[in-house]
Amino acid sequence: MASNDPGQPLTVGPPTTIDLPVPASALAIGAHPDDVEFGCGGVLAKWAAAGCTIHHLVCTDGSKGTWDPDADVTALAGRRQIEQREAARRLGGDHAGEVRFLGRVDGELTADLATRGEVARIIRELRPQVVLGHDPWKRYRLHPDHRAAGFLACDGIVAARDPHFFRDHGLGHHRPDSLLLWEADEPDHAEDVTGFVDAKLAALAAHESQFESTMKAVDDQQLTAFEQRIRNRLGDLGRPFDLDAAEVFKLIADL
Ligand SMILES: [Zn+2]
Repeated sequence: MASNDPGQPLTVGPPTTIDLPVPASALAIGAHPDDVEFGCGGVLAKWAAAGCTIHHLVCTDGSKGTWDPDADVTALAGRRQIEQREAARRLGGDHAGEVRFLGRVDGELTADLATRGEVARIIRELRPQVVLGHDPWKRYRLHPDHRAAGFLACDGIVAARDPHFFRDHGLGHHRPDSLLLWEADEPDHAEDVTGFVDAKLAALAAHESQFESTMKAVDDQQLTAFEQRIRNRLGDLGRPFDLDAAEVFKLIADL
């Protein structure tokens, strides 16, 4: 096909769709504990309140999430699993689903074939209607784990949906309806999270080990300032759509 195919508009504009129908289940795939809450905590809380089962998959152990050079990284990884489970409980409430961990070393995640197979197996087991993940095509993204986790979400879906991939799983194939990529290079979909910003902030606050390094908050005043930055950000994202608060994504609906 010619590269200048006129069938595809080339303009990059503001988001063009708002609010997917509430899915029966969703799987959010993040590189580190807390990435899911930053990327899509509001929409997960909204969907859970409407009856959607919310699953989490965290690819790395988060063992480098500290500025303390003398930290016990094994203890930190254990603590971050506990924090992730608490964040998932706060977002999902009665509809909190599973929290899975691939356990890769923080900073060393790769989208290799074996890891893709593990992600595809989890998609086949949990059978989510919607998958959410990092946008691996975000320009100038520095953190390699975010890139790799984004590719694992995309590649994992392709492997999970096609019956001849990873036949050794012994599981039926599963094709999700849609994929939402957060921190998107070209966002084209907004989710109204008005009324669910507090739930997102409560889930972020479960990641106490990250207050200093990620949220730049070592006291109550700084934590309040962090929360205000998030509120302002979601408000800014919603304004073009007359929404009080929004999270925006690249929507890939034809899987
Ligand atoms: Zn991260």
